[in-house]
Amino acid sequence: MKVLKFGGTSVGSPERMKNLVELIKSDEPKIVVLSAMSGTTNALVEIATALYARENDKAKKLIDALEKKYEEVLKGLFLSPPYKGGRGGFEKGKELVKNHFQFIRSFTLDMFTANEEKAILAQGELLSTALEHFYLEEIGIDSVLLPALNFMRIDENDEPDLKYIEENLKAELKKYAGKKLFITQGYICRNSFGEIDNLKRGGSDYTATLIGAALTSEEIQIWTDIDGMHNNDPRIVDKTFPVTELSFDEAAELAYFGAKILHPTCVLPAQKRKVPVRLLNTMQPQAKGTVIADKASADRITAVAAKDGIIAIKIKSARMLLAYGFLRSVFEIFERYKTPIDMITTSEVAVSVTIDNDKNLDAIVKELNEFCSVEVDKEQTIVCIVGSFTADKQGYASRIFDSLKNISLRMISYGGSENNVSVLIDSKHKKDALVALNKGLFGL
Ligand code: ADP
Ligand code: ASP
Ligand code: MG
Repeated sequence: MKVLKFGGTSVGSPERMKNLVELIKSDEPKIVVLSAMSGTTNALVEIATALYARENDKAKKLIDALEKKYEEVLKGLFLSPPYKGGRGGFEKGKELVKNHFQFIRSFTLDMFTANEEKAILAQGELLSTALEHFYLEEIGIDSVLLPALNFMRIDENDEPDLKYIEENLKAELKKYAGKKLFITQGYICRNSFGEIDNLKRGGSDYTATLIGAALTSEEIQIWTDIDGMHNNDPRIVDKTFPVTELSFDEAAELAYFGAKILHPTCVLPAQKRKVPVRLLNTMQPQAKGTVIADKASADRITAVAAKDGIIAIKIKSARMLLAYGFLRSVFEIFERYKTPIDMITTSEVAVSVTIDNDKNLDAIVKELNEFCSVEVDKEQTIVCIVGSFTADKQGYASRIFDSLKNISLRMISYGGSENNVSVLIDSKHKKDALVALNKGLFGL
């Protein structure tokens, strides 16, 4: 069984939803994971934000506008009613859209909580998958609409529960012996209380790799709007090129450190079960794309990525000099507040760390202040240079730092793994840094 995931732009219009058929109609058994149509999750976030702020009139207007968009989608997607005299895709779609928007509108009448926000955010994927399923039905292609909420689950730490997913997905598939084409929702899941939740923004990639891992599938295909993982961020740098092969380690670093083409942690399930991941372009299906697999790449600098919204914390104390146990007392505070640390650099009297979750920043700083002096710098960016840097190969550091010679570097991390060199810079220098690396490392 192959897993094919199509992102927001790949289902972003009636034409795209129709074009998808060419890519999924073959007889090979497959699970197709769909995102919400592009723009929908952002619109749902806006609606939820208005509801939180009790701006109900604003929320109602936003809901009306989104519903109108879906009414237009119905007109473009289905044959004109009446369809062969019976209940065609148009009628089914119309009822579907009406029901989902009635549900969203119901939140304008009552109190609004975090759980309800998640229920609203789930509507995009529920709509896109049902509409694609109705379209397939209308053109005579047999498919099963598989409810992700029946098998996709996160635990009390918001981590996917792979055992639960595997058992429940297999049980779900068993109900449809002989069927070959399954359509399911990306992004959405249930949490440990059984409530509707999600795998965070961009999470449909994660759904696909979790399904691929759960079934130890032959291959996971991530279909998007670009021909694979590029050597640099194409949103920021003009000249970039697709990297044809990546190791799981390289891809995991790039995704975590800002390459938006992949959800930050989606490589891990595939890596765990050694299922290759192929990144492909819906607009250019013949393009080779990128294959992510278990093999280590040769010595090389592969790509760079950047992650914004980073906070640097410098922790300084004379007590650190020649002392042991100091770092533990620092890290324990971050652990207690469930705040992961990305980069670390140390000297004999100070340690600098970076975090991207500022939820408990004030409390963390307060506790650190009890035994250290603390400086906090916000609006920082981690620029991550990914490749295969074996210890005996010389010259990588000098090439990287020579490229960055005109950029102020706040922190440098080298040697943590063979796949990653990271530097921390002020976010306002991000573009200059990425352009300089493109020139210095890739000659572009
Ligand atoms: P989807 O909606 O299909 O999930 P995304 O917008 O999440 O698509 O991801 C694809 C986008 O990721 C591309 O359009 C591109 O702008 C962006 N991107 C950022 N960094 C990279 C990179 N290194 N390689 C390719 N795409 C990247
Ligand atoms: N629809 C969700 C989002 O926009 C999930 C995804 O597209 O991957 O974040
Ligand atoms: Mg995405």
